[in-house]
Amino acid sequence: MYVIAHKTDKVMTCAEALEKVFDYIDNSTIPELTSEIEAHITQCLNCHERFEFEQLLKARINRAAKLHAPEQLKQQIERLIAARS
Ligand SMILES: [Zn+2]
Repeated sequence: MYVIAHKTDKVMTCAEALEKVFDYIDNSTIPELTSEIEAHITQCLNCHERFEFEQLLKARINRAAKLHAPEQLKQQIERLIAARS
């Protein structure tokens, strides 16, 4: 576990950073916290890798959700039903 000291003598631990990283990815952190998280993940390789992984994962989930959008699925089902009758 790494502890990174900041210029402002506030310290964000890895546990705190990882706890907030999901909010950060969702853009739902307050600006103050955003800069703290950014400062941590640029200095801490551990958290940086984790952050990149989570970001990639989220992008993949979003893409998968778009590919299997409910509307598209509905149309597919309707087409299948139409083909059967
Ligand atoms: Zn860290």
